[in-house]
Parts: sequence; C-alpha cells; structure tokens
Amino acid sequence: APILMWFRRDLRLTDHPALTEAAATGRPVIPVFIHDEVVEDYGPAPRWRLGEGVRSFAERLESIGSRLILRRGRACNVLEGLVEETGATAVWWTRAYDPPSVERDEAVKSSLTGRDVDAASRPGHLLFEPWTVETKQGEFYKVYTPYMRSVKNREVADPETAPSELAAPETWPDSDDLDDWGMGAAMDRGAEIVAPHAYIGEDAAQTRLATFMRDLIEDYAQARDYPGVEGTSGLSENLTYGEISPRTCWHAGLRARDAGKAGAETFLQELIWREFSYHLLHHTPRLMTGNWREKWDAFPWNEDERLTEVKAWKQGRTGIRFVDAAMREMYVTGRMHNRSRMVVASYLTKHLMCHWKIGMHWFEEHLIDWDPANNSMGWQWSAGSGPDATPFFRVFNPITQVDKFKADGYIRNWIAEGQDDPPEDALDYFRAIPRRWSMSPDDDYPEPVVSHEDGRQRALDAYQAREF
Ligand code: FAD
Repeated sequence: APILMWFRRDLRLTDHPALTEAAATGRPVIPVFIHDEVVEDYGPAPRWRLGEGVRSFAERLESIGSRLILRRGRACNVLEGLVEETGATAVWWTRAYDPPSVERDEAVKSSLTGRDVDAASRPGHLLFEPWTVETKQGEFYKVYTPYMRSVKNREVADPETAPSELAAPETWPDSDDLDDWGMGAAMDRGAEIVAPHAYIGEDAAQTRLATFMRDLIEDYAQARDYPGVEGTSGLSENLTYGEISPRTCWHAGLRARDAGKAGAETFLQELIWREFSYHLLHHTPRLMTGNWREKWDAFPWNEDERLTEVKAWKQGRTGIRFVDAAMREMYVTGRMHNRSRMVVASYLTKHLMCHWKIGMHWFEEHLIDWDPANNSMGWQWSAGSGPDATPFFRVFNPITQVDKFKADGYIRNWIAEGQDDPPEDALDYFRAIPRRWSMSPDDDYPEPVVSHEDGRQRALDAYQAREF
C-alpha cells in the first residue's frame, strides 16, 4: 500500500529523513502538499514565497518520475480523504515546532491513528531536537552561550543523498492547479518586485551554499555585520522552507573549518542561533505571542498601529536614514540584513516605545525568509523582553551605527530622496509602494519623527520609572 508523504516546510529531496525512509521501503510514495489552515494564516510575502517553493519542488519531484499532489482544506480532512482515495496505510511528515503547526499535527496524528493509519513524524528541520538539549539541572536553556557550548561538539550525522526515484502509485490522485491558489495575490507590492531578489528551490539553495563556502566564508565573521556588503549566506529563505537541510549547511561549515577558513566557526554559531530559537519556541510557545519575561506586560508599550510614528516606521520615512533604508530594503527584496533588523527593531521598541509585536507582525507580512522561531526570538531579543536579550537600557544609536557598520552606501542604495540620479533599488521602492502612501522620490527627505536623543531619554525614563 502507498505511503502519503506530507510535505510542509521541507521542500527538498536531499537529506530528507522521512523521504529517504519512504523510498527505501520500495512502496509507492504519494507526495502531497496541502494549502491548510496554517498556510491560510501566512502573511503575503511568506505565502508567495512558499508558493514559488512548492512550484520548484513539484518540478524537482517530476525530475525523478514522481509528482506533487496539491490539495486545499483542513489538513486533517484532506489527509483522511486521501487515505480513502489511495488506500495509503501510512502518512509521514517532517516535524514542525511552531505552535500552530504542532496543534495541526497533533490533530492529524490522533485522527489518522484512530483509523489505523501509521501517522508518524520524523526529524529533519533541526540539527538537535529541542527536548534533547538540557542543562545539568534537567531544564531547557534560556541563554544562548551555554546552549551553544553544550551542542557545538555534538556528532551530527552526515546528510543523506536524494532518492534517485520514487515508486509511483498505480493511479495518481487528482491535484489542484497551483496557479488557482493565487499564492501571490495578497502581495500588493506585486511579486515582480520581490521575485528577482529571491533564490527559490533546492538547486538554488545548494548553489548558494557552494558559492558562500567558496567566496565568502573566509571573511564572514567581519563582513556579516555590514549591511552594504554581500557577506552572508542568504540561506535563511531556503532554510525556512526546508529547501536545504541544516545538516547540509552544518557539514559544509565543518569542512570549511577543517580547511582553516576563518569565518567557519562563526557560521556554525549562527546556525546554532537558529537551533536555539526553536529550542526556546518548543519549550515556551508564548515566545510567539507574548512577552517572554512577563514583567514586560507592565511596560507602557504603544500598541496603536495608527500612530503616526508606527506608520512612518512601516513606510520607511522616520527620518532616520539607517532605519528607513532597512525598511525599504525589506519592502523591495523581502529580506533585510541582520544588522538592519536589529537597528529597526531597536528604534521601534525603544525610541518609539512601540510593542515589539507590531514589528514582528509587519516582518511576518513582508519577509520571504519569515521564520516563526527566528522572527519571534529576534524581536524579543531586540525589545529586551526575551530570555536572552539585549538589556533595555542599551539603546542602539541609529546615527553612529551608520559609520560603525559602513552603511553609507547601503543608505544611498535605498533612499532616493535628495539624489540626482538614484539607483534602481531606491526607485523600485516607489514603484512598489501603494499610492495611498503618497511618497515620491522627489520629496524632501523627512525630519526625524523621534530623534535619537529624545527617544532614548523617553525610553530610559519609562524603563527606570518601573525599576525593571
Ligand atoms: P547568515 O549570516 O548567512 O547565517 C546563516 C543562517 O544562520 C541563517 O540563514 C539563519 O538560519 C541562521 N541565523 C543567522 N543569524 C541568526 C539569528 N540572529 N537568529 C537566528 N538564526 C540566525 N531570521 C529568519 O530566518 N527569519 C526571520 O523571520 C527573522 N527575523 C528576525 C527578526 C529580528 C528582529 C532579528 C533581529 C533577526 C531576525 N532573523 C530572522 C535572524 C537573522 O536576521 C536572519 O536569519 C539573517 O539575517 C538571515 O540572513 P542569512 O541567511 O544571510 O544569514
């Protein structure tokens, strides 16, 4: 009887434990992707990017004589229906860890198990399952550095090779047409703006890793901090949709370290940050929904999205150049440099005293590398409300950070106002934004909505008044 292989954020053939296992049985394998209740809640950019990932993955499956069956509906109902239609006796998938996916998967598991179907999850999204890492006291880690030390020398198995074929069922079940799903429909800035900046699919991810290891890893430890430099791997969009496995990246990092590449150790540590996010999210699902440190519930966060300052932040016109360049970069490319993410998050939560959830949700709508664990951890880290966080009283200075991180060129690349001949990227922003924002490259660049000095003082006063 066939095995239904349920794909979600694991759109790859290489190093996919559940798939390797299914292929090895010799039984027919029916790959399925469901536009389910979890996908229904994705923001516009993640949904578009996922759709393109699915398109590319379907081609990949066809190249080994298989297919990707597309269905829409509640995961539980769709899978029950497919089991009936195909006579499958097993449904396997790669484990997910974010609360909405966990809830969905538990429901699927209990319903299918009740029908005598072998419903089983396998690892593959992480290097270390979150419950396998614990402190000497048997607790989970709340701070990155000890977490990192405890896992960094662990043996990580070699990545598995892609199956060269998958046995097909006698008849294929019907499939929806991906184009009918309109995965890009909600992206009002239009997919054509973002698409040239994306690296979609398994082949692109592998090429990207190889290029990074050849050209960039040596200088990575320094170059990764400069937003104007292409100094990082760019693999986050591929990792988040599982187009490449963390093990593949990890082993490439180990080889680079063995070869004496200076940046390799830092790269491995960044991969561990991703593991740490998932570790925290697994143990404290509220990472995605509320202040990790509950005392922050008492902080006077602005939560009104209609505030002029919030609008200015979202629209890249706060008058703080580093912040605006970064927000525009995200609007056009669906990505933002890590340094810039820290700068805009600090400005929103400290200078503007806005709740980090406003920023987290805006990122969730606009990032093509949106990741439930990394995004929520990044925001709580920046806001000071997270378990391992930058202290609230350390307020980044978005003016001096320009020099410190050589962001002049980056700013020129993204801010058109005041330039006689602005670069295409900066102009793309104006092609992308909704007309109702009424912004033009010919405008005068705005004065700061809140200056560094005023914002910093106000935030520190509010912080000290509560004796945190
Ligand atoms: P590289 O520097 O090449 O790093 C390699 C990989 O390590 C990344 O692809 C990523 O998987 C992981 N990694 C690197 N830095 C971090 C980090 N600080 N935390 C966790 N994992 C990390 N990352 C996302 O993948 N999705 C998000 O939605 C996201 N939101 C963020 C929000 C805020 C406010 C902040 C401060 C950070 C956020 N990050 C997020 C983390 C980080 O900015 C990105 O992972 C990184 O910029 C991706 O670029 P890269 O792939 O070139 O990274």
